[in-house]
Amino acid sequence: MNKTVLIKNAHIVTVNRQMEVFKGDILVSGKHISAVSRQIDWQADEVFDAEGYIITPGFVQTHIHLCQVLFRNLADDLSLLEWLKEKIWPFEAAHTEQSIRVSARLGIAELFLSGTTTIMDMGTVRHQEAVFQELAEAGMRAVAGKTMMDFGEYPPGLQETTAASIDTSLRLLEKWHGFDEDRLQYAFAPRFALSCSEDLMRQTAKLAREHNVLFHTHASENKDEAELIRQRFGVSNIRLFETIGAANENLCLAHCVWSDENDRQLLKETDIKVLHCPSANLKLGSGIAPIPDYLKREITVSLGADGAPCNNNLNIFQEMRLAALIQKPLAGARTMPAEQVFRMGTINGARTLGMEDKIGSIEPDKRADLTFIKINQVHAIPFDNIYSKLVYSTQAADVQHVMIDGKWVVRDRILQTINETGLPDAVQKQIQMLNI
Ligand SMILES: [Zn+2]
Repeated sequence: MNKTVLIKNAHIVTVNRQMEVFKGDILVSGKHISAVSRQIDWQADEVFDAEGYIITPGFVQTHIHLCQVLFRNLADDLSLLEWLKEKIWPFEAAHTEQSIRVSARLGIAELFLSGTTTIMDMGTVRHQEAVFQELAEAGMRAVAGKTMMDFGEYPPGLQETTAASIDTSLRLLEKWHGFDEDRLQYAFAPRFALSCSEDLMRQTAKLAREHNVLFHTHASENKDEAELIRQRFGVSNIRLFETIGAANENLCLAHCVWSDENDRQLLKETDIKVLHCPSANLKLGSGIAPIPDYLKREITVSLGADGAPCNNNLNIFQEMRLAALIQKPLAGARTMPAEQVFRMGTINGARTLGMEDKIGSIEPDKRADLTFIKINQVHAIPFDNIYSKLVYSTQAADVQHVMIDGKWVVRDRILQTINETGLPDAVQKQIQMLNI
C-alpha cells in the first residue's frame, strides 16, 4: 500500500493549462499526486496543515554543475575562457572522488533549501559515479552526465581519449539511466565545441539518438568562444549541431547569448531547448541572451544557475528575478512578465527535460514534487499578485518544506536526507586537501 499524505489549506499555484491558483488540498499517494481540489476528505496516513503556505511545483533548473560548488567564491571577475583556463579546469582536474562527493552534496543541500527539486547537471570528467551516488542518496530528481573533453590542452586530470570518454559515458548510462523509477536519467554531456573533437560530437549525437537521451552542452556563451568555433568549423556554434547530426528536440544548449537570425530559425525548426543562466551571463560578462525573441518564436527556454563559481548561488528565485530584470532596459518594462518567468522555472524546465507529463505542475498523476513557501514574510507581502511575489520578492529562505516523489527532503528548513551540520567542516577539509 502506498503511503498517503493529505495536504490541507494551501495556496496552490498549479501551473496547469489554465494556470489555476486556488486555496485547497493536495492528496499524495506514494510518489504521485492523486488529487488536487478545493476540498479533499480522505483518511490519509499523514495530514499536513499547510495554512500559511504557498505550494508551487518543485522548481526545475536545467543547467547546474554540482562538481563546481566546492569552488564557490574562488573564481570571480574573469571572462569565460580565462575563468575556465585559469581557475575551473585546474580546479576540476584537482578534484578527488571524495571532494566531488562533498561538492555535489553541498550543491544539493542548497538546491533543496531553495526549493529546486529537479536539475540537469553537467558532471565531471572523472568520478562521475560519485555525483550519481550523491543524487541517488539525497533523493533529488536529476538528468546528469559525465562531462566529455577530448580536444585541446588541459591539466592531466582532465585529459581523455575519444574512446575512453564514450566508453565511460555508456557504462554510466547503462547503470544509472532510469534509476528509482526514472528519478535519475542520463544525458550525454560534451562540455562545449572548443573542448571536443568533431568525431566525439558526431558519435555522441548518434548515441543520444539511439538511446533517446538528452545531449546537454554549452553553446554561444561568449563572443570570443563563438568566434573561435566559427574559425575552426566554418559555421556558427548553433549551426554546428546541425552539421554533426545533433539538432533535434533532445539537444539542450546552455546560454545561446550570441545568435543570428539563421541560428534562431534552427532553434525553432528543430525544437532545440535553450537553457538560460542570467546570473552567469552577467558575472562572466558574456552578454544578455535574446530571450524575449526566443520566447516570441516559441522556442522552449528554461532556467539554470550554472556553476557556483560564476553565480555564486544556486538559487532559482535569484535566476527568475534576474531573467526578468535584465531584459527590461533593452526591450521595455513590459517584457518578461512575472508569470512567464515563473513558467520558465517550472513547466518549461519539465518540457526541456522531456518530463512534461511527470513534473513542472501540480496535477493528478504527476510526481509529488512540491515546494512550500511561507506566505507572510514581511519582505514579500501583500501577495495578491502571486507571480509577482514569487518572482520579485520571495527569498530562498522563505522555502520551508520540500517534497520529491512524495518524500520530504526538507521539513521546517531541516534537510531530511543530508547531514547539514557536518557540511561546513567537510567542505573546508576538502578545499585544504585539494590545495588550490
Ligand atoms: Zn555551465
